[in-house]
Amino acid sequence: MTIEAITIGPATVEPTTVEPIPRRGPGSTWLLCGGCGTMLYERRFARDGRVCPDCSWHAPMTIHQRLDLLLDADSARPVDVPAIDGDPLEFTDTRPYRDRLRDARASTGLDEAAACVRGTIDGNPVVVVVMDFRFLGGSLGATVGEVFTRAAELALRERTPLLTVTASGGARMQEGAIALMQMAKTSQALGQLDEAGILTVSLITDPTFGGVAASFATLADVIIAEPGARLGFAGRRVIEQTIRQSLPEDFQTAEFLLAHGVVDLISPRHELRANLARLLSVSSRRADGIPRQAGRPDRAVVTDPEQLARRDAWESVRAARRLGRPTTLDYAAMILEDFTELRGDRMSADCPALVAGLGRLDGIPVAVLGTQKGHTADELRYRNFGMPTPAGYRKSARVMRLAAKLGLPVITLIDTAGAYPGIEAEEQAQAVAIAENLRLMAGLPVPVVAVVTGEGGSGGALALAFADRVLMCANAVYSVISAEGCAAILWKNPAAAPTAAAALRVDARELLRLGVVDGVIPEPDGGADADPAGTAARLREALRGALADLLPLDQMNLVTRRRARFRQFGVATPASAPVPAPAPSGDAHESQTDRSVEATR
Ligand SMILES: [Zn+2]
Repeated sequence: MTIEAITIGPATVEPTTVEPIPRRGPGSTWLLCGGCGTMLYERRFARDGRVCPDCSWHAPMTIHQRLDLLLDADSARPVDVPAIDGDPLEFTDTRPYRDRLRDARASTGLDEAAACVRGTIDGNPVVVVVMDFRFLGGSLGATVGEVFTRAAELALRERTPLLTVTASGGARMQEGAIALMQMAKTSQALGQLDEAGILTVSLITDPTFGGVAASFATLADVIIAEPGARLGFAGRRVIEQTIRQSLPEDFQTAEFLLAHGVVDLISPRHELRANLARLLSVSSRRADGIPRQAGRPDRAVVTDPEQLARRDAWESVRAARRLGRPTTLDYAAMILEDFTELRGDRMSADCPALVAGLGRLDGIPVAVLGTQKGHTADELRYRNFGMPTPAGYRKSARVMRLAAKLGLPVITLIDTAGAYPGIEAEEQAQAVAIAENLRLMAGLPVPVVAVVTGEGGSGGALALAFADRVLMCANAVYSVISAEGCAAILWKNPAAAPTAAAALRVDARELLRLGVVDGVIPEPDGGADADPAGTAARLREALRGALADLLPLDQMNLVTRRRARFRQFGVATPASAPVPAPAPSGDAHESQTDRSVEATR
């Protein structure tokens, strides 16, 4: 089926092809799957949410089918949008546009290609805009733009999250520049929701292209795609003709977009309601602000270095690197409820070494982000050994901005040898990504708590640790450079790493004394890897305590104190007493007074 639609781009006008809708086979109750061609029993297909049981093809849905699928039963209330002139140009091609509109209305039973309703998803109120590709290819004209904008204005007025379900070939040619302007009109409506702190979610269904993709479909806080759904600016055929190359099979599919950082998650249809409900419940802003929870920080966190046992720094380094230590995702599973992982930097990639998401800590909605290692060789390779790329830092920045928008505290968990040193990382401006995170975190208008849970490797760790409260686990280390790196540069001998570790004062006791960390979370006997659940319980308690202290502070206070905390490093104050040097261990070292080079990673 070829649908007239245009793709806004450099002189491209492209008919978009949609997957064939199920065709009637012999008899009246069998359909042919548009994905694999298998015969489907119609009633069962409908019951399965129009998903093929054989190949998981997600068939197109009408507006009514979509609303039935997503919303709580009987919760949908249509929002009327006043009729507007549907033919501003009095356009005629081979047929008058008015005739095409009339036919589309007759064949779909719809007024236009989009409708707005308010309703609830698992009890969470939401304003929903749904598009229907059957109506002139879901093209974006003045009425569709108006439906979306009215929905956004309603969401703003009522402080209710906005959900958009897109299916579109692009802007509607027959309305000319007026259609083009709908991209601007809808984008600024979403900008107002950003300013007001209202959650926006976009559900991408197949296909979403051109002017819709380049406006409201991709400006949402969270972008969910159905499996196989295609989204792009220019259509596949136009690109192939332009660059004269054949494109990969999965080009512009949800899976391709996830890998390239455009969508947060791919949700099969039967999981959509649950996924949406979780997001809506965690991130809806409440009139009474963030719930507050009493904490007992004194029990969970050691703030006096004298209460910590002296230990060999190199032992700490080795303990911090143990593969069995819980990772960020392990902690998220153990201490958070309703966690939704958000992926992608919205520009190039999704970095598996840095994970981020929204969840709830003892009822408090929070954004959590952290570096991610693994427990097996395969996992470690997939996670790039916990060393984030620039895309990782840009993803974390995106989620921190979202937290700021929604008023959610930010928790960061850090266990990384450092930012990834590689050619691509430099091409993509690793240094800039880290620097921008530091500036962003300095001014975040929400509480920020950072915990070094394992290795705190240099700038790559600090990029997540500009916080109101910086904590570390008892066996964690935090350092300007790895002990090995320092030994190689200053001692010209990697075997001097234990000596370097001691000289750098990388262990919890020394960092607490230096004021680099505010508190140390004791680990169970045998370390975090011996008792992950026990460690997680202590982490939760420490986080609760920190949030209980920070949540009552207003934005100005938070930011002022955070900046002051980092302003004082390196400045002599009456309180700062000289720190006795730790006893040297291992190799003797030569003096290198002129080579205090910081080779940060
Ligand atoms: Zn199939």
